[in-house]
Amino acid sequence: MFDGLSSKLERVFKNLKGYGKLSEKNIEDSLKEVRLSLLEADVNYLIVKEFIESVKNKAIGEKVAESLTPAQQIIKIIRGELVELLGNNEPLNIKAKPPVIIMLIGLQGSGKTTTAGKLALYLHRIRRRVYLVPADVYRPAAILQLKKIGSSINIPVYETPEENGKVLQKPDEILKNAIGIAEKQAYDTIIVDTAGRLEIDEPLMDELKLLKNKFNPNEILFVADSMLGQSAVTVAKTFNDALDISGVVLTKVDGDARGGAALSIKKTVDKPIKFIGVGEKLSDFEVFYGDRIADRILGMGDILSLIEKAQDSIDEKSAKSIEDSLNKKDFTVKDFAEQLKMMSKIGGITQIAGMIPGFSKIKDKFNPEAAEKEIVKIKAIIDSMTEKERINPDILNGGRRKRISLGSGTTVNDVNIFINKFEEIKKIMKSFKKNKTGSLKNINNIKNMFNKGDFKWR
Ligand code: GDP
Repeated sequence: MFDGLSSKLERVFKNLKGYGKLSEKNIEDSLKEVRLSLLEADVNYLIVKEFIESVKNKAIGEKVAESLTPAQQIIKIIRGELVELLGNNEPLNIKAKPPVIIMLIGLQGSGKTTTAGKLALYLHRIRRRVYLVPADVYRPAAILQLKKIGSSINIPVYETPEENGKVLQKPDEILKNAIGIAEKQAYDTIIVDTAGRLEIDEPLMDELKLLKNKFNPNEILFVADSMLGQSAVTVAKTFNDALDISGVVLTKVDGDARGGAALSIKKTVDKPIKFIGVGEKLSDFEVFYGDRIADRILGMGDILSLIEKAQDSIDEKSAKSIEDSLNKKDFTVKDFAEQLKMMSKIGGITQIAGMIPGFSKIKDKFNPEAAEKEIVKIKAIIDSMTEKERINPDILNGGRRKRISLGSGTTVNDVNIFINKFEEIKKIMKSFKKNKTGSLKNINNIKNMFNKGDFKWR
């Protein structure tokens, strides 16, 4: 989502690199560009104005640190302001007496029901006993959708009584019954998927207000579709004025929205963004950290989220098998296939690439979407190989290569290219082994290192 803004800012900083010292003139010039970049990213103009003023004052007042170049000084100040704008991470309020109630509100199509499933999976992973409650009584399809989501992740869903496609209970009755069941079954967290409309209307707000007043939810999260840009922010404001929300979940951050919603919403409603949705899959969900997003915007990547994603998606058994394959004498095509599988679990190349520091700089040379297509081809090639060939690709003579190309719908040339590339990868793996840096045991050490702030910033 932040690609456009990211590459524009990158250009501003590049120009600044030519200066030996920060002067009022070059600060002014670069801030003009930054201002334009933010406006083009659809950030609210009043927020942009304040942002630029604040950066300017800090840049002019800043004591010149000998160790930083002008570009680094400006980036440092801008990073600070971006973090301020995006807000700090604020954890979910789930420590209260169970069952904790989390109510999701927002317009239809914003991603509410999907978010209910994502949040359920996230909470399940941190060992909460979650109960999903569909309270959109006007759209039986939404209830069905939540049921499907629940069963796909093994999370219980409240059974709403229906007759001839009509829901027989009102939302407040549903929630009352659900709380009773949660208490009996020792479910400690209830996620309520409320009704949404295509536009805000009084009856919808009244229904939500009634739920709020009757059950006093521990969290009221507004689900905002980042693709709607500024208008998502306006809608958030209306919901917040009526219901005093406790936080925001920003969805579709993986899309090509320009970033305006993310950068304006916290300042406008003065409520924290707590999570972001980064894809259609239920695992495409991240805790929101303003500083990490600021780093992504500034092209510094987001290693911490990447590590967390890897830890969430890879179970211990698979991690062990990767580690074993790294420690083995010979790295085989079979091990490689296992790693490809793992990578797609983490979210595929496109998502991983966006989190790698400095990626924005090589974006022109490396196209993750193209790489993703290439991987589909490679998977087909590996699938067409026999077990023996995967363990020992040296036996791949012309005849075998031809058979594999026919089986995988590729050309012999594709197979040759893959085998050559694989030999290169094998070499890299060997060097990993020597350095021992490939060990997944090191993930926690790396994480601690970053947390301790040893990370040399730029
Ligand atoms: P609701 O009407 O608010 O309950 O919205 P849904 O949960 O049904 O979502 C509407 C559409 O948005 C669906 O097609 C979802 O798959 C999609 N969606 C939801 N969250 C995300 C997200 O974070 N990224 C992407 N790309 N799509 C999403």
